[in-house]
Parts: sequence; structure tokens; C-alpha cells
Amino acid sequence: MEYQKNKKRAIRIAHRHRLIHKRKTYYANWADRATYKNKVLGILSKTATVCSCAGCGNPRKHFNEDTLDEQINALNYAEYVLKLLDC
Ligand SMILES: [Zn+2]
Repeated sequence: MEYQKNKKRAIRIAHRHRLIHKRKTYYANWADRATYKNKVLGILSKTATVCSCAGCGNPRKHFNEDTLDEQINALNYAEYVLKLLDC
């Protein structure tokens, strides 16, 4: 990495580069990696989800359901309570 004026700035730029590299790989099927332009990579680095359709969006918004993480946490909590009660 190049020399930066201060550490916070260097960390912020490093995380931007990390996200660009990561999102370049997980949108590989969406478009050919070689065709990515700097503008598209910049948009991808600041926008995790490109579209907002029901398939990609938050289920609470579209279907009024819990998200996957919330469902998993609810199951884990139920198991935890059952373990505490010795059922
Ligand atoms: Zn979508």
C-alpha cells in the first residue's frame, strides 16, 4: 500500500479496495469480470445489493417476515430455553 497521510485514511481506502475485490468475485456471473469498469466497481463498493427486487431485498420489507438471521436466532433461543428447562 502507498504511504498515506494518516492511518484512518489508509484503513478506509484499504477497506474500499477489499470490498471492490470481494464484490468483483461475487458478481462474476452477473457480468464478465474483465468488462468491469472503474465506475461500476465504485458503485459496487458502496452498494452491496445492486437491485431491490423481492428476491434480493429484505423479507421484512417485501413479505412482512423475519429475516433469515432472525429466524435462526429465534430457533437458537428456543433451543437455549428448552435446555435451561431440561425438556
Ligand atoms: Zn434482485
